[in-house]
Parts: sequence; C-alpha cells; structure tokens
Amino acid sequence: MEIANLEAIPLSHELPDGRSMGSVRGKTGTRFAALIRAETKDGLVGWGEAFAPPQTVATLVDELLADAIVGTSAYEVESLAERSYTGDLVGYHFGGSAFVQSAISGIDMALWDLKGKASGEPIHRLLGSSGTHSVVPYASTGYVTEWEQDIREPLEQAAEEGFDAAKIKIGRGVEDDVHRVAAARDILGDDADLMVDFNGNLRPKQAIRAAKELAEFDLTWIEEPVPPENLSGYKRVQKSIDVPLAAGEAHYGRFEFKRLIDERAVDIVQPNLGRVGGLSEARLVADMAKAENVAIYPHVWNSAVGVAAALQFAISISDYPHAGNVREPLLFEFDRSENPLRHGLIETPFDPTGGELEIPQKPGLGIEIDENAVERYRID
Ligand SMILES: [Mg+2]
Repeated sequence: MEIANLEAIPLSHELPDGRSMGSVRGKTGTRFAALIRAETKDGLVGWGEAFAPPQTVATLVDELLADAIVGTSAYEVESLAERSYTGDLVGYHFGGSAFVQSAISGIDMALWDLKGKASGEPIHRLLGSSGTHSVVPYASTGYVTEWEQDIREPLEQAAEEGFDAAKIKIGRGVEDDVHRVAAARDILGDDADLMVDFNGNLRPKQAIRAAKELAEFDLTWIEEPVPPENLSGYKRVQKSIDVPLAAGEAHYGRFEFKRLIDERAVDIVQPNLGRVGGLSEARLVADMAKAENVAIYPHVWNSAVGVAAALQFAISISDYPHAGNVREPLLFEFDRSENPLRHGLIETPFDPTGGELEIPQKPGLGIEIDENAVERYRID
C-alpha cells in the first residue's frame, strides 16, 4: 500500500448563460472541485476531494504535501492531521491553516478509498457502521439566484421527484424569509422536514427575531444564522430559541469543532468532509459530538467524490443516545443546483429520488470514477 503518486486535479464547470446562484452572502456562476488522485506502487487508485479553491489545493499538494506523503503507506492515513499540527507536514506555523487542512482532507479521503479497495470493504464498514443501507436525502435548494427564481419552482420540482425534506436559503429580511418558508411548507406539507440556511448573514438579535417569526413553520433546524466566527453569538441565539441550531460547514479541524461542541453553541455540527480534515478528523469530531449528545450531519456541496465520502461517513455515525426504534431520519444534504461534477464523473450517478438514497456498497468510496470525464472538466 505504498503511495507512489499523489496528484491534485482542479475541475470547473460554468453555469450556462452567465447565470449565478448561491446564498444571501454571495452568488457564483462556477462550480469547482479539487480532486485528489492517489496511486499505490501496485497500481491501486484512490480518490478524494478537498473543499477549497482547486488551483490553490493543487499548488499546496504539488509544492508542499506530495513529497512528504509519497513513499508512506495508505494505512498511515489517520496520522495526517496530527502530522500537520506538529509541523511534520508544511510546518507548524501553517499546517493548521484552512487551505492546508482542506488539502489534507482530500488526501485523507483518497487514502481511505485505497484502504477500502485493498480490503474489499466500503469505507462505512471500516468505520464500523451498523449496516444501514440508505439515508433520507433532503433537497438543498431554494438558492438565491441572480435571475430571481420563484421559490416555488425548485421546491415543486423536488416534491415531484419524491423528496420528503428540504433546506432553503433565506436571510434577506424577515418579510422575505417568511414568504419563502411559508411557500416551502405549503409545497412540502406539514410533516416534511424543512430547514433554513442564513449562511451567517445576521447579527444575534436579528437572528433571534427571525427565528421567532419563523416559529410557526416547525423548522427542523436553523443553519448558520450568525457568522461562523461568532461563537458568543451562537451561544446567545442558542439560549433564546427552541429550534435546533446547526453550523460547521465553514469550520474545520478538531479544535474549532471542540469549541462549538464543548460550549454547546449548536445542537448539530455539519463538517464538510473535504475541509474538516477528512474522514479521520470527522470521526474524531463525531466522537466529541456524541459525548455531548450533539447531532452530526455532514455539509455536502461537492462533486461525486465528496458526496460519496459524506455518504460513507453519515451512516457510520452512532445515533446515541437513541435506542431501539427511536432513531431519527438520517437526513443527508443533496444539493439540487446544476452541477455535472456531482453526477457526470461517476459510472453510476446517485439517485436521491423517491425519498431514499442508497449507500454505495462497492469497496472504498463505493464509486467508479470516469477518468475521461475528469479530464473533460480539468482546468490546469
Ligand atoms: Mg449551509
């Protein structure tokens, strides 16, 4: 399992007609992916994805990480984050920084893919999953668009395709928030899980007011109401509202998540597998969360590789403290925006329709990458 070659592959896709979409905090017309390709001496190939600007990741891998990892064994994957914090990788002044941790996340994922392929098991088995075979996909939709798309359009389409749960972007003012959430609740029905995402655009008192105005819509969680760096703001909102509070997509590493969890700033942590430090660090975060009864649902805004890693991870998470049949639906973020990097890179695209998303059961990440498709979207 000696790693013979390690490469970062930057990919990009432009939305047609110069369109852009996203959240209240910004729109983009481009979807990126920073893939990692690791190959062993024996020719086994593992794939990972960093959640960060792809050409930055490629530079970090080429200049700082590849030489330090080539020649080691994929079985040493769980030491990568610690090597970055001690300074063995990149130097301790920079090893813990966000971009380096994203690059390490992608490499960690690729090495787990190799471990799974070498053992003939899907990663969730190696992580100790209980054998669950599917999750409940929620439509991550209702984006803020430059063409001012009617909120009803994407939700009606998701409901038609069988989604029972959804999350929408809000945060442009209470009146608009209520309008969007009321429309979503109307389309999805009273029993559906409905979540909202402010992408950190409010001050704490604005967030508390918004949450109170939205109380009648029975939200499953409120995501990033205040900026990710405002820990005291989260704690303040947390004390003032009854709806579960979620954050984590803009956080990374054990130290940031430890603060969110230990200080009970949120009820749900949402690490992105391509940023938190990979599957190894996500597992550590999950253990910390479990000890405080904080839930963990990964953030997923990735290509097929990141989606597969999040699926493998999601079903490995213990549902403690629940026992028996009390288990809550295993909600899984499924981004509904146009992105061929999510469905066009793999031989068998994910099928989230009908309210259920199967976990790939093949070894490793469980997916087969079409390397010709990867070359098609490559931008270096
Ligand atoms: Mg979000």
